[in-house]
Amino acid sequence: MSKALVLVDIPLPSFLQEMIGAQCETCPWDWLQANHLKLSQVKGVYTYGHAAVDGPLMDRLPALKVISNFGVGVDHIDLAAASLRNIPIGNTPGVLDGATADLTMALILAAARNIVIGDRFARGPDFVHYDPSHLLGSEVFGSTLGIIGLGRIGRQVARRAIGFEMRILYHSRRPVPDAEGVLGAKYVPLDDLLAESHFVTLNVPLTPETAGLIGESRLRKMRPDAILINVARGAIVDHAALYHALTEKWIAGAALDVTDPEPLPRDHPLLRLKNLVITPHLGSATWRTRRRMGEMTAANLIAGLNGQALPHQVRN
Ligand code: NAP
Repeated sequence: MSKALVLVDIPLPSFLQEMIGAQCETCPWDWLQANHLKLSQVKGVYTYGHAAVDGPLMDRLPALKVISNFGVGVDHIDLAAASLRNIPIGNTPGVLDGATADLTMALILAAARNIVIGDRFARGPDFVHYDPSHLLGSEVFGSTLGIIGLGRIGRQVARRAIGFEMRILYHSRRPVPDAEGVLGAKYVPLDDLLAESHFVTLNVPLTPETAGLIGESRLRKMRPDAILINVARGAIVDHAALYHALTEKWIAGAALDVTDPEPLPRDHPLLRLKNLVITPHLGSATWRTRRRMGEMTAANLIAGLNGQALPHQVRN
């Protein structure tokens, strides 16, 4: 039996390629630009690098049976357009919660305790003697954490915060029934969360409702000693407003794993700020998690190619 043609946005590393190699032949995204003749035979799309997939693109692939996304966030895929064309979309929820929550805590600690600035200083020529008054940070232990979006990842962040004896506030569109009992997390209106939290972490999906959720007015509601952490999606934060917030000290700092655009232009003013910690979208970037994500992406892809229900299908 011939292998199904699957369009891949960026080349897959060998361990992911092996997971689909028996059933699929992969072809590069460049085929779209070149208007390759075999586009009409493409049956699957594997989004590994978050390429945008919209209705017009789907229309160029008349044999398309499934879109399988490596990751849980599907804001780069037009869900309504796929649904209109009866094309199921798969994603990888659940397996990356621990790794992404670990990175959230790493960013909280890095920003609060000057880990990045300290690392650079400790390697540089100016570190000639220990100075107890140098690089004093703010304490994570015992502080107040505000989680916006207490879903799968948000809950894992809360579990870690318990170990740091943090007071935990959260905001979602509705209260989570067991959050107070199991996690000790208190549901509060968004404005209260912003006003009270030393650390505000964003764990919501990017949707029309959450795009620009953190703009000037909300940044101004935060404490002057607060630190904003974004491990969700860049467009949830208004970057121009964040720049003003960080330079004019409306808030003390920020840590971003995601930006809009991603990456930021190399001369973007945010990249010059010392009170910003930034990582290149590393939320789920561990070997174990990436392997599990690959297995789920492969299972969704193969199921869709065979006309079966996807093990993890996105519902919209
Ligand atoms: P999830 O389980 O669906 O949780 C999302 C939470 O956000 C839910 O509690 C939801 O609760 C809440 N929410 C949705 N819309 C909201 C709104 N308008 N206002 C307030 N709360 C809202 O998703 P997840 O698996 O935790 O993933 C969350 C996001 O993290 C993903 O969509 C992805 O973009 C991002 N992510 C990033 C990385 C990375 O590498 N940095 C890795 C993995 C995931 P209600 O629906 O009840 O409001």
